[in-house]
Amino acid sequence: MPTAAERREALKAVYLEARDCKRCPLHQSRTQVVFGNGNADAELAFVGEAPGANEDRMGLPFVGAAGKLLDQMLGEIGMSREDVFVMNVLKCRPPDNRDPHPNEIEACSDYLNGQIELIEPAVICTLGNFATKLLRSDTTGISRLHGQDEVRVIGSRAVRLYPLYHPAAALYTPSTLEALRADFHRIPELLALGAPEQPAPVQEIPEPEEEPELPPAAMEPEPAAQLGLF
Ligand code: URA
Repeated sequence: MPTAAERREALKAVYLEARDCKRCPLHQSRTQVVFGNGNADAELAFVGEAPGANEDRMGLPFVGAAGKLLDQMLGEIGMSREDVFVMNVLKCRPPDNRDPHPNEIEACSDYLNGQIELIEPAVICTLGNFATKLLRSDTTGISRLHGQDEVRVIGSRAVRLYPLYHPAAALYTPSTLEALRADFHRIPELLALGAPEQPAPVQEIPEPEEEPELPPAAMEPEPAAQLGLF
């Protein structure tokens, strides 16, 4: 278990790598990388889709209208952004807020996996389809899955994955907002369960010691020699 300081240092190293990332074409159009922010020791993390125009300008996730709704929902369960870590599938804004492309998701996935591995949240709320499909490795959509928690192993960690509607989808659709609110109100219950049982750590298999090179004759004695006839 890393100390809080070690966790922060390791997360900073992932940030510094992401900050100059040119792994996909989005680096050409972004203003800046939006790594994510919040409490690096959080038990609860949120994974959204990608930065929008406000996030791209400010370098922070969920600072626009969808972010305000996220803050409001957190407030309703007695939490704030200081209690959680918020990040996105993509760290750079897709032009015109278009959907992320598969090559961009693939190029960015190391950063998200690194964040999850280091923060070690007990509960991860995926916001909307992209985060849900990515972290469940499955194409089932959010309208079928929202509000249903399940234990999933992500990297080396088992987490309680909890798909939620994306707050942006709830902004203009009252029934989606009500579903998001109802699902959100179950978060304290999930947090109270704590982290799920963790998978056994992968055993390091020691490399076999190298046999000294012997001349072939010494390695494979003649059958007669083995029988002691010489
Ligand atoms: N929508 C997202 O998915 N992420 C943000 O950071 C902002 C809006």
